[in-house]
Amino acid sequence: MGLALNRQVSLAVHGGAGSGPLPASDATLRRHLRTVLAAGRQQLAAGGSALETVLSCTAQLEDDALFNAGCGAVPTTAGGFELDASAMNGSDLRAGAVAAVSGVRNPILLAAKLLTGSEAVMLAGAGASDYARERGLAMVPVEYFETGWRRYPRDHDIPGTVGAVARDSLGHLAAATSTGGRRGQIPGRVGDSPLIGAGSWADDRSCAVSCTGIGEQILRVTLAARLALLMEIGGLALAAAAERAVTELVARVNGEGGLIAVDGDGRIITAQSSEHLLCAWFEHGGPGHTALQGRIRVARR
Ligand code: ASP
Repeated sequence: MGLALNRQVSLAVHGGAGSGPLPASDATLRRHLRTVLAAGRQQLAAGGSALETVLSCTAQLEDDALFNAGCGAVPTTAGGFELDASAMNGSDLRAGAVAAVSGVRNPILLAAKLLTGSEAVMLAGAGASDYARERGLAMVPVEYFETGWRRYPRDHDIPGTVGAVARDSLGHLAAATSTGGRRGQIPGRVGDSPLIGAGSWADDRSCAVSCTGIGEQILRVTLAARLALLMEIGGLALAAAAERAVTELVARVNGEGGLIAVDGDGRIITAQSSEHLLCAWFEHGGPGHTALQGRIRVARR
């Protein structure tokens, strides 16, 4: 690939994978995703790093009640809201994650505070909320989530989770993922999204990945790291590795999910075994695209 193209930036964002009715019209979903993509494009064009960009895109998606993350999170069976998020930086494998955190407006920004790894890479529950408060992050009452949740009817287990992957002008990669979890989850339940290697992964040697779908299945095949290792150790190119990773998700656990990923050359791939994968992307600074399905589709059993 030429030097000029190599300096160009790539970005993908997602608003979740799943099956069943969508929470809004196609046009509305695409418009919301396009807005976030445009903001991320500006940030990367202005020299923003891949990490900064995936964090702010994911925070923006958390602030959009249309998606199951941040203010659009789904309640647990006890009526509370427990959120998960993770982020990873591909140049040095720094990672940060939070699980089952309540009262934090943007869990992804809390995960970002842990990226130094000096105190912890992952925090859960009350300790995570305390840490957010001490670090001056925006805290919100439960009504904030109740209002967001009521804004868009979700009668079914529709797509949830948000995330972003990027390649910046220096060729560095990063990934971020955030979720409100699964509808009807029991208190304390944690899925794949905050788990480094399952929900998120980024390594400049291979790719950056953000996953979505049924966490109990995704985490058992470490979907994000599996894709990266199929590239790094298996020698596959991004699209072939993504197809193989999702095929294995289905073959091993009949898993339902999707992913977005970017490689070191700035190529983007979207793949799913679910019915939907809400996503938007541009490659090498080129035109933006939105889709409600991934490019690679693997049928479940
Ligand atoms: N993966 C998320 C979880 O299991 C939910 C989703 O992506 O829909 O918590």
